[in-house]
Amino acid sequence: MKIVFRDDDLNYDFNINDFNYYEQIKDIIKVSFFCVPKIDFKWPNYLEVCESFGPGSNPTSIRKKMKWYEDSRYLHENIILMKYLLKNVKLGWMSICLHGSKHYQTVSDVILERNFSFGAEYLLSSFEKRDILHDIKSLEKFDSKISWFAPPQNLISPLNLKKVASLGLNISCDLTILKNLQVFVRVKLRSIVKLFYWKVVKRIRFYYPFVVEYADIKLLGVLRLNSETDINDLFNQICYLEKMGGEVIAINTHLSAFNIVTKNGKTVGENLVELVMRLKRTNKFEFVSVNEL
Ligand SMILES: [Zn+2]
Repeated sequence: MKIVFRDDDLNYDFNINDFNYYEQIKDIIKVSFFCVPKIDFKWPNYLEVCESFGPGSNPTSIRKKMKWYEDSRYLHENIILMKYLLKNVKLGWMSICLHGSKHYQTVSDVILERNFSFGAEYLLSSFEKRDILHDIKSLEKFDSKISWFAPPQNLISPLNLKKVASLGLNISCDLTILKNLQVFVRVKLRSIVKLFYWKVVKRIRFYYPFVVEYADIKLLGVLRLNSETDINDLFNQICYLEKMGGEVIAINTHLSAFNIVTKNGKTVGENLVELVMRLKRTNKFEFVSVNEL
């Protein structure tokens, strides 16, 4: 079974030291970095504010606490980071994909249970194709074609999904969007059969371990690896999906969470390294970039 690592949020405010845990396992796995092309606020401050408010908070309260930059900061304007990324994209273990536009929205005060509506720009704002193209172009400075997209908070509206797909970008997101009829009618018949088979016959409800074909693009759900994840449960889930005949799974994690200490006393980064070593020892998994699906 193929395993994809999807790491979100890479942007202007990151630095090379943030990649220390990946440096330990880069000869084993490939990592698809879903980058925020431009940011308007100081990212470390954003993480602190989100942590203090918690999921389900009002976006206006978060907005007021943000430390805003005067102008948007583009990922490629961080010259030292850019050099490091270019080198590693060339080495082959790293690939660059698109993660929203600016990772926040100002149009809606809707509250999302267990999520942050402040970041859910692709769910709550409307995006024009030319804006999406502009964001794709700004990431193509990494000499790689951008062919995958993931919306911030894993949430996207049916209309934005249609627009992103019409630009030929594959999408990794929360697959509950398939419950929307406008979306479901564009899923290819063979994927509908597969969804039915896994859900009803195999009774797997927590993840679809294959790529869903929607119109002319691919949709991919994710399993999460964060500070709340029990690493043994995740390992067992992955092995179970493999045993049941799964084709691919994507593990969604965040560089910025790697130093958070989890319930087992280890950091998220240490848990990631341990998970990768355990998966490797089974000899049952192939670690691929999202571009290889
Ligand atoms: Zn994000």
